[in-house]
Amino acid sequence: MLYINGEWLDIKSKEMDIVNPATGELIQRITVGGQKETHKAIKSAKKAFEYWKDTTGEERGFYLSKVASLMTERREELAEIITMENGKPFSDSLNEVNGAISYVKWYAEEAKRIYSDVIPGSQTEKHLMVLKKPIGVCAAITHWNFPLSMITRKLAPAIAAGCTSVLKPAAMTPLSAIEMFKCLHDANLPKGVLNLVIGSAQEIGDEMTSNPDVRKITFTGSTPVGKHIFKNSADTLKRASMELGGHAPFIVFEDADIDAAIKGVMASKFKNSGQTCISTNRIYVSEDIADEFAYKLAQKVEKLKVGNGMDEDTDVGPLINQDALNNMHNQINDAINNNGKVICGGEEYSLEDREGYFYKPTVIQDANDDMLIATEETFGPIAPIFTFQTEEDVVNKANHSKYGLAAYCFTNNLGRGHRMIKNLDYGIVGINDPSPIVPQAPFGGFKESGMGKEGGKYGLEEYLEEKYVSILTT
Ligand code: NAP
Ligand code: MG
Repeated sequence: MLYINGEWLDIKSKEMDIVNPATGELIQRITVGGQKETHKAIKSAKKAFEYWKDTTGEERGFYLSKVASLMTERREELAEIITMENGKPFSDSLNEVNGAISYVKWYAEEAKRIYSDVIPGSQTEKHLMVLKKPIGVCAAITHWNFPLSMITRKLAPAIAAGCTSVLKPAAMTPLSAIEMFKCLHDANLPKGVLNLVIGSAQEIGDEMTSNPDVRKITFTGSTPVGKHIFKNSADTLKRASMELGGHAPFIVFEDADIDAAIKGVMASKFKNSGQTCISTNRIYVSEDIADEFAYKLAQKVEKLKVGNGMDEDTDVGPLINQDALNNMHNQINDAINNNGKVICGGEEYSLEDREGYFYKPTVIQDANDDMLIATEETFGPIAPIFTFQTEEDVVNKANHSKYGLAAYCFTNNLGRGHRMIKNLDYGIVGINDPSPIVPQAPFGGFKESGMGKEGGKYGLEEYLEEKYVSILTT
């Protein structure tokens, strides 16, 4: 199903199957589009922009509030769809829906707070102003790991800023996007302000990047695809925001509260089956406490219940597909060949009555820099434990990555905490905090983890540009 210019489109000739990763069963067969439909959607967004750019922040905030109310009413349905197509436990899906709503609500308020500046001139008779203007038509491409909140983090600030947009969600999880667009439609958002195209990534992506009417591209996904989209956007010099891969270090000093750190790893590593860009990839534990830490962590991980996200007692759902499972096998075999010790998990997990992409939550002790897992993103439930001796040593190790999205550090030494904030080369740093993401804060990475921010006033700036005006009053 596509949504263009306020209408649902059914193109009978092209269809795509959406499959439940916990059961392998078909959830729904949906209509998809391609280059032609994307072109049409961009045209409709361009037309809508002529009107939308001049609306007041209050009006745009009003629509966003309506959307937030509808999403709140439909919380359970939305969460069920997320679990069906992505696999995560239903309670986590509900948390995702709440998170998604919190972004919509935050930007509903913020739409009213886009201020321009009056700046002091160099001559008394000149009045200088800087006006904040919406960039124009935006193209958004999202990922399957947070199929709903990913969308609201892009579309809510776009609406608040006065931009219009075309969204392409991930092929494996378009049903959350369709449900979200039903909320937008039912909130009577004016035609063309938001458009949805689902289908071939190549065809849709190429039209989005080459079409000169698109003034901004915002992407969440892998670093290689992000680079490809960024390069393709260069010819028409679009503004770009890129939320890309990560390889988060999780550092535990000997002065930390070990139990709190273990709780932190459990939250940051195994939520969403580890398929999160800010998920812990490398656990660095001070040599003095490494054995105790590994033992205690393995005990907790062992107890995690793997299963279908719709079963109430499930802690960890399936991975998204067979490629993801293959990646787990690859990293585990490589770790074992490089003298790693698997102290729990380390294999696929079959449910009695269902086909699904399940992998047992895993802990590897004696991880080292020769392993693939030390540099390659895992995107799955494997927790490798490395050790370190000194603060300097661990800072070097933690920063030795092409990525720079999130880093975590557990310590009870205030001075050390501040030194780590200064020295960690990451866009997001959690000190004794494994879950730092909130709608009012900027989310985004350094280095090859991307550019630009989502969330807060920073996320709104991404959709605005400054128009400088000089008035000679004589
Ligand atoms: P991916 O292949 O990069 O896919 C992400 C999105 O890009 C999907 O909508 C996909 O469409 C689309 N896409 C793929 N090829 C494209 C092309 N040639 N042109 C335009 N669009 C294209 O994602 P993945 O490999 O599954 O993702 C894993 C990575 O995403 C990890 O590195 C993870 O860290 C990163 N990630 C980052 C964040 C963040 O916020 N920083 C969040 C989530 C994930 P189809 O689905 O149709 O192929
Ligand atoms: Mg990919």
